Amino acid sequence: MLTFADLQLNKQLLDAVQEAGYEVPTPIQAKAIPPILNGQNLIGIAQTGTGKTAAYLLPCLMRLKYAQGMQPRAIILAPTRELALQIGTQIQKLGKYTDLRSYVAIGGKSTKHQLTDLQKGVDILVSTPQRFLDIYLEEGVLTKQIQILLLDEADRMMDMGFMPQIRRILEVIPHKKRQNLLFSATMPPKVLKLSEEFLEFPTVVEVSPQATVARTVKQVRYEVPNLKTKINLLEHILELHDCTKVLVFVRTRASAAHISKYLNRKLIEESLMLHANKDQNARLNALMSFSEDKIRILVATDVAARGLDIPDVSHVINFDVPIQYEDYVHRNGRTGRAGATGTAITFYNEAELLHIERIEALIAEKIPLEDIPDGIRIEETPYEERQEQLRTLDTQRKKADPTFQGAFHEKKNAHLVQKGKKPTKNGTRAPKKFDTKASKKRG
Ligand code: AMP
Repeated sequence: MLTFADLQLNKQLLDAVQEAGYEVPTPIQAKAIPPILNGQNLIGIAQTGTGKTAAYLLPCLMRLKYAQGMQPRAIILAPTRELALQIGTQIQKLGKYTDLRSYVAIGGKSTKHQLTDLQKGVDILVSTPQRFLDIYLEEGVLTKQIQILLLDEADRMMDMGFMPQIRRILEVIPHKKRQNLLFSATMPPKVLKLSEEFLEFPTVVEVSPQATVARTVKQVRYEVPNLKTKINLLEHILELHDCTKVLVFVRTRASAAHISKYLNRKLIEESLMLHANKDQNARLNALMSFSEDKIRILVATDVAARGLDIPDVSHVINFDVPIQYEDYVHRNGRTGRAGATGTAITFYNEAELLHIERIEALIAEKIPLEDIPDGIRIEETPYEERQEQLRTLDTQRKKADPTFQGAFHEKKNAHLVQKGKKPTKNGTRAPKKFDTKASKKRG
């Protein structure tokens, strides 16, 4: 079996790896470390949880060897502050027996202190794209010495709209003799395009096929008619004995707040929220409490879906179906890590079914459907919510078939016709109920 020593790492790194408890290289480490050590440009396709951070950090630390000069020689860009901090922690851990200096510069703090800190000298700078540019524009870093530029979670950066910043950064960092590395969980076309602009003759290493959910994650889906029933089902799952650490994913910040508040009230158990509207400290506190098992439930938007390394998550609950389909893979990747098993449960209503089908196409497998367990209250869909679902279904149908007139529109006016009234142009009045399902208790 391949060992870290076989990968030609030096003693300082081997000692740190041993201390970190890594026994053998993970597949991405075995594949990525040799070419990076050789100075090649590289694209690494690997999900978080595969050990991809150490896969690029170890050879980078090895190439930089020891502290030198005042200006950074390696720049690592990450999409979120949390991920940047996590990379910083890993550098501390793996670079423990080297004298390499690393610094994490992220938003949420003033650049003033960061500029002062950077004057002390740094070898590896970890940053988010915008903050790196801010610092660069304030002349906090010179880019002449940069030998390695790494983009981590490139797909996420693209999704978050960082392309203009990345382009600008590529312009200001000298090309000559620079080693470029790009890591991404998936390779959607926009990342491929970026890689073409940014990497010459890259070596491509991939550990799991694109967009697959780890085999250690058991996937389940439930068709749930409405929000209230989703909450009932969520409550039921949270009471299961093996539900020890739960990440609940929602689409919007508003639903995160709504669900978290509801759970806090109902379960007399604290759950915390993680979303982009929270300030940096609140986000980190929520993450720390969850990581350290002080709270069992974290409700999060997709900000938290990628890159975060939280151990022992037993269940991922997709309270809403993600619209960015790759997020399904990333969300579920928060459980079943490092060989542990996990469960990923997805709730969807009729209007979300289309997304389920598309996700199944993306991951090239069927997500097993289960019946809502007995004893769970199936609530009646409130009028407004059903209207919204029907509107969404209509839009989906129209997209699929441009000649489709819109059943929602027709239905909305149907009752007016029955009553002998002239339908309004845009159907301002609608029938009272579309939903035929009565509120009932199953089982
Ligand atoms: P990552 O994919 O970089 O987010 O890493 C996921 C987790 O795996 C982190 O907690 C790492 O510390 C850990 N890890 C990385 N490499 C190894 C290894 N070779 N053996 C065991 N754990 C590892």
